[in-house]
Amino acid sequence: MMDDIFIGGALDLDTDERHWIPQSDDVAFKPLVLSVSQGYYVNILRVRASGILSRHRHNGPVHALTLRGKWHYLEHDWVATAGDYAFEPPGETHTLVVPEDVTEMATLFHVTGGYVYVDPYGKPLGYEDVFTKLENVRQHYERIGLGASYADRFLR
Ligand code: FE
Repeated sequence: MMDDIFIGGALDLDTDERHWIPQSDDVAFKPLVLSVSQGYYVNILRVRASGILSRHRHNGPVHALTLRGKWHYLEHDWVATAGDYAFEPPGETHTLVVPEDVTEMATLFHVTGGYVYVDPYGKPLGYEDVFTKLENVRQHYERIGLGASYADRFLR
């Protein structure tokens, strides 16, 4: 049996900035579980920009619980705000948009499998999964002096 994971204050969004892994200038994520054994990850995505973020196609299911701010997909007519939950089915291609009046959005995502970034014509541009996330996390902790093995607490 593998070890459990307990993260106190997991939803405290404004505490330790070292726990946020930068993905680009305005996008960062905080890992909760990196399950390489079952091919999924749970993280909190934080976006401090507005506009179209990315268009991508998932090969597995996604669960999204919005904690702060507001966002939506071009492909759906709902808008997610704090407290809202969404399920996105495997095979879906969607385009994440943060409205202009939002300074920050934070959402807890449970992502199984991976997703492929695609252009408007569906041409693949890159991919992400628990393994690319783990690599980002390790590099970040190494860079800030906590050491790459700090990522092991989220790894199962
Ligand atoms: Fe997605």
